[in-house]
Amino acid sequence: MRAAPHTGESGNRLKAVSNPQTIQTVAVVGAGTMGHGIAQVAAAAGYRVILHDVDRDTLAQGIRTIERNLARGIQLGKLTEADREQTLDYIHGTTHLEKISKAELIIEAVPEKLELKQAILREAESLSDQHFVFASNTSSLSISEIAKASERPEKVVGMHFFNPVHLMRLLEIVVGKATSGDTVETVRDVGRRMRKEPIIVNDVPGFASSRLGVALGLEAMRMLEQGVASASDIDKAMELGYNHPMGPLKLTDLVGLDVRLNIAEYLHRALGSETFRPPEVLRRLVHEGKLGKKSGEGFYSWKDGNEDARLAHSS
Ligand code: NAD
Repeated sequence: MRAAPHTGESGNRLKAVSNPQTIQTVAVVGAGTMGHGIAQVAAAAGYRVILHDVDRDTLAQGIRTIERNLARGIQLGKLTEADREQTLDYIHGTTHLEKISKAELIIEAVPEKLELKQAILREAESLSDQHFVFASNTSSLSISEIAKASERPEKVVGMHFFNPVHLMRLLEIVVGKATSGDTVETVRDVGRRMRKEPIIVNDVPGFASSRLGVALGLEAMRMLEQGVASASDIDKAMELGYNHPMGPLKLTDLVGLDVRLNIAEYLHRALGSETFRPPEVLRRLVHEGKLGKKSGEGFYSWKDGNEDARLAHSS
């Protein structure tokens, strides 16, 4: 039986509880596209942050990107030099997982594989005496499934951030079957301190945002395959006609084509809907290593990470 939807302040499970855990230290596992951004907003919110990655170069790259984001914030007059220093001061990068044992909140942002996320959760529990909250930044995997690896499934929740994390305001909090109201309140408070706008969604495949967003992106790819229009014109249809700040193909380049392919495969299986069957063009580009902005090319070509993309695939 499906759980009743959570309706925020008046939601059944949330009404009875209001006992959020105090969080001082946040560990972020995985310093890639999402992880470094989560570390940045957590540190900017005043949390001590331990940023972990198995790959030393990715970790260094993640910290460099945070530095660039902060410098840009200062240039734009949105941040002060003191903000920049505090944020950088609060982030401690490491390749040693045991360092996360001090955290009361662990947010994982490792690749979208159930077994990997469960392995991180198990390892975190074996390393730490803290009764930490474990949040997954998964875009589509089931929080209840991830929580099966836990001794304390009531402490497992989804915190789905959006890319780029320091700019996107939405935080989708995903409530698993066993997630407690206190856990939801804890991450909702943290999200608000990070200046995000939390929404609360039950644990169904694709949650609210990915299910709609991925369906749109995959249809745009099919239109490109069928030669309906060029990538930039398909994107403009949504940008100018529907007021989307960015078209679905450019957004896919930003998210990463490999990430999108994984999600599409999962939703295709989980929802049994042809809407989510990955189009050939997506498989081909991923096979060719064209993963979007992070690899320099996807549906567009990205020069020096510049958002002024030159059209790469017009049909
Ligand atoms: P990514 O590939 O850019 O980064 C993943 C990082 O995890 C890499 O740096 C990798 O070295 C590291 N890693 C791999 N195994 C590890 C381990 N055992 N321990 C520690 N680090 C490990 O991926 P991403 O795009 O940041 O996605 C991460 C998660 O966030 C996925 O679940 C994805 O679905 C989700 N997500 C992605 C986006 C997006 O726009 N890219 C948006 C929302 C959510």
